[in-house]
Amino acid sequence: MVVTKVFCYKCGSARESFEILCTKCGSPFIIKVSGSVERRIQDNYDYFGQSFLPMENPTPIVETEDFKAKLEFFSSTLSYKDRGMNTLFSFLIKSGYLKEGDEVSEDSSGNAGASFSLFCNMSKVKGAVYVSAGANRMKIRQLESYGSTTEEVKGDRKAVETAAMNCGRKYLGHQYWPEFYDGFRTISYEINQQLPEMPENILIPFSTGTLYLGIYEGMMHLLQNKLIKSIPKLWAIQPEVASGMYDFLNGVKKEQKRSIADALTGVLPLRHEYIASIIGMNGRCETVSEDEIRMARASMLHFGIDCEYSSAVTYAALKKFDLENNSLLILTGHGIKNISLI
Ligand SMILES: [Zn+2]
Repeated sequence: MVVTKVFCYKCGSARESFEILCTKCGSPFIIKVSGSVERRIQDNYDYFGQSFLPMENPTPIVETEDFKAKLEFFSSTLSYKDRGMNTLFSFLIKSGYLKEGDEVSEDSSGNAGASFSLFCNMSKVKGAVYVSAGANRMKIRQLESYGSTTEEVKGDRKAVETAAMNCGRKYLGHQYWPEFYDGFRTISYEINQQLPEMPENILIPFSTGTLYLGIYEGMMHLLQNKLIKSIPKLWAIQPEVASGMYDFLNGVKKEQKRSIADALTGVLPLRHEYIASIIGMNGRCETVSEDEIRMARASMLHFGIDCEYSSAVTYAALKKFDLENNSLLILTGHGIKNISLI
């Protein structure tokens, strides 16, 4: 049987109710899973009854002569964020925190907003997504088509977050709720079921670190159950111009800019100290240039794979660090999401 526990990553205090920060020290929560790994993926979650989306349909893993990739854009809104919104909304509905007709808010650079908006639609709640001025128009149009409204905020990511938090609606910021990133554990279970053995390296686009954390927790769960011999090296890949985590790890101080990989914002992640310790043990954080990202996306088209620039960072890193052997790319979003940038 699977058991999950939510507690503060800094002082260890348990979450008391639905607060998004620890009442003792003000830090965000993490979620830990223990117990057996269940074959039916949904059974690895103990905090909701009904999943909004079927969890037993893995996204494909394709193998070309040059790379192996898990195509996370085979999902309702064409990005991996649906996995996290699925577990978060299923939890919020089951627990009674969300009720039909509620007004809820979120801040997003695009993909999370689109996914949030679809799940608001399915949950029959009214969503408002706060976006930064100049955000990707394609993603904004996508999220509006599912029924949520957008509010454009001038200023940095923090200003957008503050506006979403203080707008008077229930704030469902995906970075704060651990049930969101916990949805990405499913990726690790799927890889374990789909491949005869775990790859040596998994290359993961990195922005706020939620995808990285979820895959890590899933791998840890598999390891605890002796279903894998060791955890693959988890690579956190960022654009050079938007590299909050890389800069934190390397003591670099610089202004973060907007990358062509628009889903990767370069903010310092909420749980950056915790993530730093995981990268220190199990991974590596690296950056790739804008030109390398452009070339990577163009090269992947030759293999018939159309991913967004934010996903192509992984292929850029595979080439840059010579990782052709036994590596898996996580391709997070479909290339159609970048049409407004081309
Ligand atoms: Zn605390």
